[in-house]
Amino acid sequence: MIHYSCDLCGGSLGKERYEANIEIAPKFDPDELIEDDLDADHLQQIADEISLMDSTDEFKLEETGSKTLKLDFCTSCARRFLKSPLNLAPASRVTFSKN
Ligand SMILES: [Zn+2]
Repeated sequence: MIHYSCDLCGGSLGKERYEANIEIAPKFDPDELIEDDLDADHLQQIADEISLMDSTDEFKLEETGSKTLKLDFCTSCARRFLKSPLNLAPASRVTFSKN
């Protein structure tokens, strides 16, 4: 039996499980962008950086493709998510506070 836990509060989920599928997809053509916006020097610089990153394996071209995030929520977190989908990460909001 597959066990699910809430991606927000970490609580274990029983029958009342909510799932959110969020698709992140680029709405531009990466090839077009390179041709229009980057000159030869830039391309050489990027090629150098990519060759530097070759060993780390952290940089992958696939990351420009579309991705679907699957999130599991308990009932109360599902309600919270529907209310404010972009307010889920308190840590990242510090940047926008007005002090
Ligand atoms: Zn939860």
